[in-house]
Amino acid sequence: MTVPGKYLRGIPINLSEIKDIAYAAMNRPVILGGPIRLGYGAQGGSKADEFDLPGLVLALKDIEAFTYDILGSKSSFYNPDSIPHRSRSTQEIARWSVKGAFVIKQHPDYPYVMCELETFRGCGRPDHCSFCTEPFYGDPDFRDITDITSEVNYLYQNGARYFRIGRQSDLFSFMAKDTGDELPRPDPIAIEQLYKGIRIAAPQLKVLHMDNANPGTIAAFPDESEKIARIIVQYHTCGDVAAMGMESADPLVVEANNLKAMPEDVLDAIRLINRIGGVRGENGLPELLPGINIIHGLKNETLETFRLNFAFLENLLDMGLMIRRINLRQVMVFPDTPMSKQNNTDQYHDQFIKFKKKVQKKIDHPMLKRVVPTGTVLKDVMCEVHNGITFGRQLGSYPLLVGIPVKLPLGRFVDITVSGYGQRSITGIPYPLDINNTDQKLIYHLPGIGKKRARTIIGKRPFRDQKDLCDKVEGIEEMLPYIEFKD
Ligand code: SF4
Repeated sequence: MTVPGKYLRGIPINLSEIKDIAYAAMNRPVILGGPIRLGYGAQGGSKADEFDLPGLVLALKDIEAFTYDILGSKSSFYNPDSIPHRSRSTQEIARWSVKGAFVIKQHPDYPYVMCELETFRGCGRPDHCSFCTEPFYGDPDFRDITDITSEVNYLYQNGARYFRIGRQSDLFSFMAKDTGDELPRPDPIAIEQLYKGIRIAAPQLKVLHMDNANPGTIAAFPDESEKIARIIVQYHTCGDVAAMGMESADPLVVEANNLKAMPEDVLDAIRLINRIGGVRGENGLPELLPGINIIHGLKNETLETFRLNFAFLENLLDMGLMIRRINLRQVMVFPDTPMSKQNNTDQYHDQFIKFKKKVQKKIDHPMLKRVVPTGTVLKDVMCEVHNGITFGRQLGSYPLLVGIPVKLPLGRFVDITVSGYGQRSITGIPYPLDINNTDQKLIYHLPGIGKKRARTIIGKRPFRDQKDLCDKVEGIEEMLPYIEFKD
């Protein structure tokens, strides 16, 4: 994985699982594809090595094209080494995505499945960031808008309701025009056609989110980018995140690694997205917020880099801006990138761990309180895991982790009132809370209720209505919006 992750119900496959699958296939061809063709590394701060496992065929270009060609004849099925590796064309994606849309029904979570829509891949910059593998895909190779919307329509006909426009390195650059400058000029008309087309193809969709945005593009083309941000907010669903690869707030690191944006550009981009997307939407989250990715271990990094990165984040807090997610990681070095000659990517490992903890405590925690203040009602949180309590998330891109301090049935949606905070998660209680019958633990978590008043409430249950409750228990006005009265 180029960006390793750990999620509520999944982590990227590891080597021993890959071996198990190959073993279970009992000498039938097992084809492995995806970013692993660029190398395999267990975690950031390390080098990704070329991957080679006996018994496995590694698709050296696109696994879809390789598989398609192998299935073309019986002889090639049993002799995959005879098939040349190649990239798939956008026309092939158009055909295959429509024909394969039915497969969504086989997903164990169906119909609650996020469908990632590819719009393009590759990078439009003439020179690239030192760590990045995206340039291996070449110049941007845009899919036709009608092909993307047909894919959406076929998925929709097969029950899909949750979509994310992902994969591309910068959604703001979809169909951008090369002007000979460092960055191509964004095309708001194309983005509007894309979003409008998706809405027509999937009229009752429940989620439409985006993924990456290049802060350099937004800072370089503020007028076009403002138009695009407004289009996104008009057609998407709220709780959306524009994940921005800032990578470093240290200008020396930015220069040495040819990164896409200086810290002041990133700040401009964050302000623009906050101004247009900072309004709270109907699911309880702001419409569109920026996310930031920071990478440590890049060329020219010093201890000063940690100080500058922290100061940048602290400044965002001081300025009253909102960031939905801060992703800190150590670089994973892939063969053939400019970083591959660098051997000291892990020299500040201990400093990185300290930095991460400091950001969680001093930035993530207060930022979370700003993004979802106590008493915010989050709609449609899917209960997913029991682990002493119930953990759930809203379906969407970069969802917030919600801990609900009781056991609720899994696979169901529940609205919750935000009542507390972990460092990167929130505590929530079902909304509205049935004050007469609910578990005592949940009453303790009602906003504005201390343990003493919670005990009084529990001792004086049941209550007929708000007036009855206010007559029997003093000072509970703050919690009235979050409760209901059942017999
Ligand atoms: S990280 Fe840099 S090189 Fe990679 S896609 Fe973004 S701008 Fe291009």
